Amino acid sequence: MAFIQISRANYIHNLTLLSQKAGGKERLMVVLKDNAYGHGLRIMAKIAASFEIKKACVKNIAEALEICELFEEVLVLVTHPPKQSVAKNISIGINSLEGLQNILPHTAVHLKIDTGMHRNGLFEEEFDTALEIICKNSLRLRGVFTHFRSVDEVGSEYFWQTQEYLRLAQCMREKILACNIPMPPFHSCNSGALLRKVGELEDDYARCGIASYGYTHMHPSFGVYDLKPVLSLWGEKLSSRMLQKGDKIGYGGVYEVQKPCVIGAYDVGYGDGFLRSDGLKILTCKEGELIVGRSSMDSIFVISDKEKICIFDNAHAIASQFNTITYEITTKLSPLIPREII
Ligand SMILES: *Cc1c(COP(=O)(O)O)cnc(C)c1O
Repeated sequence: MAFIQISRANYIHNLTLLSQKAGGKERLMVVLKDNAYGHGLRIMAKIAASFEIKKACVKNIAEALEICELFEEVLVLVTHPPKQSVAKNISIGINSLEGLQNILPHTAVHLKIDTGMHRNGLFEEEFDTALEIICKNSLRLRGVFTHFRSVDEVGSEYFWQTQEYLRLAQCMREKILACNIPMPPFHSCNSGALLRKVGELEDDYARCGIASYGYTHMHPSFGVYDLKPVLSLWGEKLSSRMLQKGDKIGYGGVYEVQKPCVIGAYDVGYGDGFLRSDGLKILTCKEGELIVGRSSMDSIFVISDKEKICIFDNAHAIASQFNTITYEITTKLSPLIPREII
């Protein structure tokens, strides 16, 4: 059966590097959304908690409920206002004034402010109304945050947005003080922004996802970081056969065998969340074995006779072959593939 290996040591290694950069374990919020970027939510949450990380953020309430007993606080990033009250240590990220209006009284919230990405969050003109709603509905303001749009890119955009964030954060602080609400923590950096930081982090903490799983997509001129990929994907042989020059394999027969060889079918397909290859490009497994032909729903062809094959232990090469990012390669992997911790 196909399986995923999770390297505990590599995850701890990355968390160590990031928490040092942030200025302590209590200043790092681990991003575990979308099944921990496909790694396995419970598995990664338990390792992070054993490393004494106190805060996590996830996609929705269902994910929060799965792990909330392991952390002091779990922030939900992408949810519509929940209709029922949630556990005390779950906080809801607020993406719009409308969302804030519809949140049940006494809920803990983090206000997202729009500092230039324009994906979601409040504009400066909405700050006063937001704080009024918070007071009126006795909401607990547990954080103010934003997200940067250009940390991976070379150029002035990140600097411009950081200035915008500092200005708007200051404005929000003054308004919070004036309302007599306890000052909440402020946070803005994702992995790339934290790694780019020169000197100390001014914020109360950083929210890191991709770097904790061992990757960055930053331009190499920003520096090279000692991160270690955490996940590897393995397939197991379903069958193999000896084929001759000129034989064609799989749907459409798009791959023609060049010289006599053994072709194995391995049990990882696009139904398992491994992106579908159209067979026009040849991909390579970790040890260099070639993945050929069109992918099937539940299998791929590899020029190999091994019983088990490591398809990748570093998503960068596969991501660039599919013209995408490592985030997508790991996040798509089906939660039904068994995970083992090594
Ligand atoms: C996904 C996400 C992050 C983590 O980003 P990485 O680049 O994976 O570190 C942080 N903050 C928000 C709001 C996110 O949606």
